[in-house]
Amino acid sequence: MTNLKVEKNKDISNFLTLKTRVKAEYFFDAKTRQDLIAAKKYSLKNDLSMFLLGGGSNLAITKDALAGLTVKNDYRELKVLEDSPDSVIVSVSSGYPVTLLIAKSIATGWGGFEFHQGLPGTVGGAIYMNSKWTKPPTYFGDDLLYAYLIDEKAEVKKVDREYFQFAYDYSILQKTHEIVLEGIFQLGKADPKILREKAAFALDYRKKTQPYGIASSGCFFRNITEDQKNKLKLSTTSAGYLIDQAGLKGRTIGNFYVSPVHANFIINRGGGKSEDLVRLLNLIRGEVEKKFGVKLEEEVIVI
Ligand SMILES: Cc1cc2nc3c(=O)[nH]c(=O)nc-3n(C[C@H](O)[C@H](O)[C@H](O)COP(=O)(O)OP(=O)(O)OC[C@H]3O[C@@H](n4cnc5c(N)ncnc54)[C@H](O)[C@@H]3O)c2cc1C
Repeated sequence: MTNLKVEKNKDISNFLTLKTRVKAEYFFDAKTRQDLIAAKKYSLKNDLSMFLLGGGSNLAITKDALAGLTVKNDYRELKVLEDSPDSVIVSVSSGYPVTLLIAKSIATGWGGFEFHQGLPGTVGGAIYMNSKWTKPPTYFGDDLLYAYLIDEKAEVKKVDREYFQFAYDYSILQKTHEIVLEGIFQLGKADPKILREKAAFALDYRKKTQPYGIASSGCFFRNITEDQKNKLKLSTTSAGYLIDQAGLKGRTIGNFYVSPVHANFIINRGGGKSEDLVRLLNLIRGEVEKKFGVKLEEEVIVI
């Protein structure tokens, strides 16, 4: 455990899809289950806070430096636990890239993840966020049976799906700060051709409605609730709609701007400074509140 290969003052900007400039005080690249457990133990032993970085696609780190130990999750393993005529039970490690999981599922004929085609990040991040797709409404946690976690004392525990209390953009991990080691999913068998078509449909819709292939962290703010929508007599809960109606599409501060394609996406043109991002976020919050009386809440984790 003591010979954990920890780097100091590591530039982690390239691990963040929004590409903000950040250094990690201590950094460790975890490649196995044992690495993740050892990192947690190391952080406890050395009294360091620990931050687990998945694909870095749901983060807006506006600090120049992250204190404590930042662990990059590169634990990638996929195992078939049970294979029956109608379904399969697979164990997927938390550092496994979602794009790879979807590609593998489609090619093998495992249904369940195909509508998430185009979702960046890792399986662990997608469980933590219960990442979703809208057409049709699908959540990453839908087919989870159980999972293995590392708790706050660095003990491994097995929990079932109910433990996560999955909801829109929510799992209990956001409160407990436990770490997913593996998620065990039950997936129905399906024709790869049909899965491919469904995935292509989702990706096509994504590309038509969202900026694609540029530096962002996805939808920045959470959609408003049905109650708020009804009070405002709106036909949508979309945070992007509110930002658009507040006249903010294309609004730029420094190298950060509100996407003209989808107003809930904030883009870094390149080399954006964190203080400009913070100013742009404050502007968006302020203008939306002025126009609609609604305080937008972040979907992205702002640190
Ligand atoms: C272009 C683009 C499109 C996107 N589209 C969507 C979309 O359609 N739907 C959607 O819901 N989101 C979307 N997102 C947001 C983001 O991709 C998802 O939330 C994604 O699932 C986050 O995974 P990650 O591995 O990148 O997590 P990270 O951003 O690395 O981390 C997010 C949080 O999860 C925690 N975490 C990561 N791994 C673990 C683990 N193993 N155990 C416990 N906690 C962990 C981190 O500590 C952090 O608090 C999009 C983002 C981008 C950039």
